[in-house]
Amino acid sequence: MHEADTGAAPLIALEGVTRTYISGEETVTVLRGLDLSIMAGEMVAIVGASGSGKSTLMNILGCLDRPSSGRYRVAGRDVAQLSADELAGLRRAHFGFVFQRYNLLPELSALGNVEMPAIYAGLAPSVRRTRAAALLGRLGMASRLAHRPGQLSGGQQQRVSIARALMNDAEVILADEPTGALDRQSGEEVLKILDELNAEGRTVVIVTHDMNVAARARRIIEIDDGRIVDDRLTGPARVPPPVSSETPAMVPPRWRQRLDPFREAFRMALMSMNAHRLRTGLTMLGIVIGVASVVCVVALGEGSRQRVLANISALGTNTIEIFAGKDFGDTRSGRITTLVAADADQLARQPYVAAATPTVSTQSTVRLGAKEANALVNGVSESYFAAKGTKLARGRFFDATSVASRALDVVIDENTRKALFDAAGVEPIGAVVLIGTVPARVVGVIQPQQGGFGSSQNLSLYLPYTTVQTRILGTTALRSITLKIKDDVDSAYAAQAVTQFLTQRHGAKDFFILNTDDIRRTITSTTQTMTLLIAAIAVISLVVGGIGVMNIMLVSVSERVGEIGVRMAVGARPSDILQQFLTEAVMVCLLGGATGVGLALAFGAAFALAGSTFTLVYSSGSILLALACSSFIGVAFGYLPARSAARLDPVTALTNSRQ
Ligand code: ADP
Ligand code: MG
Repeated sequence: MHEADTGAAPLIALEGVTRTYISGEETVTVLRGLDLSIMAGEMVAIVGASGSGKSTLMNILGCLDRPSSGRYRVAGRDVAQLSADELAGLRRAHFGFVFQRYNLLPELSALGNVEMPAIYAGLAPSVRRTRAAALLGRLGMASRLAHRPGQLSGGQQQRVSIARALMNDAEVILADEPTGALDRQSGEEVLKILDELNAEGRTVVIVTHDMNVAARARRIIEIDDGRIVDDRLTGPARVPPPVSSETPAMVPPRWRQRLDPFREAFRMALMSMNAHRLRTGLTMLGIVIGVASVVCVVALGEGSRQRVLANISALGTNTIEIFAGKDFGDTRSGRITTLVAADADQLARQPYVAAATPTVSTQSTVRLGAKEANALVNGVSESYFAAKGTKLARGRFFDATSVASRALDVVIDENTRKALFDAAGVEPIGAVVLIGTVPARVVGVIQPQQGGFGSSQNLSLYLPYTTVQTRILGTTALRSITLKIKDDVDSAYAAQAVTQFLTQRHGAKDFFILNTDDIRRTITSTTQTMTLLIAAIAVISLVVGGIGVMNIMLVSVSERVGEIGVRMAVGARPSDILQQFLTEAVMVCLLGGATGVGLALAFGAAFALAGSTFTLVYSSGSILLALACSSFIGVAFGYLPARSAARLDPVTALTNSRQ
């Protein structure tokens, strides 16, 4: 009807549009075949009783909703053909919504709310801030830029929402009962603003049930029960002036279009985390504990590995121990008497051997005056100390002469010195101790070895092996032979050669060999296995933490449905919403991860302060991995909530927000 008047193509054209809702078994038809066209520059009032379908129509006009059947064309484009992103583009650039309940985001200032549509349009921050401030200033809100919606009156909030609708220079303003929640005077002001916007050349569609309000429009459409029952002109339509010149220069570079929503998502994430500090903290807890335990466990594993390896090198590098018996578990090894001093002599002559020192050992009491203790008595040769890398604290080692003459010389360790001499205040060197019933003169005290195997509480005595064999044990058998291999010889090769040599000599393999390389390898792989095992447990706790994050994020999404609806209404693409929630999940996890790492470092520092024998060795690799892991958990467990947010239907989201 009206298009016939002017002959131009309508801006908005509905043909036979219906909208039905399916609720449960029932199908509710809200719009029943609407035909309507609106020309650019018109000011149209839609009136009708409550429940007649006005809001449903507005949502379709604004591309928040789609018709169930019929055709809707915006500037000639059929919306049925458009993707979700293209619809978002229309909402962003062509339509500006003004709602009865304003629908401002409570965490944002007036300025922040007005700016929002421009963020999704990719406008530079400085430009959009200036423009938002100018729009608010024009609507008489210059002194309220930093106020939150809660600090503004209804009329002021509605002006903020109008400024927001104008932010991207919308051609069409869709106002759904904009004065419904306002007092008369504020309502009047809002209507005046809408009138001015129409005078500028913008198309204004306003829903109202107030006939006074409707009278301001030059065309009134009345809806009853989903049908247009009246469509009349009350005044001449304005001739639209040329397109407003204040259109912002808006062709932002692509990188900005990509980067800006990300920065905004980051800012929003911080804001919402800050708004729900307790909840955020509790959400993080699982991640904090998980990351802290992973980092600690890995550090502890690395610490103990390094420690054990250091102990092994303290045992002397490139040494081979030959024991009597078939294996460690051989219970007869004490009674096997095939390993003798002559073996050591022969081995010492082998080209790959630097030194061979026979050892015997036994447990015995050691006494000085009234003091008595149990000690491990080692019978060794003079080369033993050099082979083991043992260092003297005082005195001297016994020498080859002592070994040959079965001298009663004893070298004691630090534990023995403490146990026997400390309390008595006797100078150890030169003192005579009783080993069992055998008296021996102390010639040297050795420095405590770094850790070493077995308990550090053990007392150890070292005597010439000949002395121990004849005076204490009464046997010529050896417990073991310690070989020091020449530096340029491979220890595996040496072990093989020793095995061959001794097997030939004894006619059977009645001994076994341990070399430090084997021990080192075994210990490294054992600690690695342990670390892996415990880290796996820690990873499980991380996963549990991630599920916690997912849980809370899902709750957060349903709590923030309104916000999501508003963002979609001003033109956020589903991908923008996805990005926002994903960013938030990642930030929560990353912050949790960083806190966890901090906690682990603090734990290590506390351990060091307490003088514990455990050392935690942190590697930047494990810390980076923990952080990477927590971001990954954020993405993995944040994805589902973020997707459910992005998939929300804009109308449903907005409707729920109005509760
Ligand atoms: P108005 O804005 O004119 O008051 P609405 O367009 O909001 O009316 O609603 C029209 C009718 O559609 C109402 O009867 C309402 O109950 C129904 N309706 C609106 N949204 C839904 C929905 N999501 N599901 C089912 N019925 C709905
Ligand atoms: Mg309504």
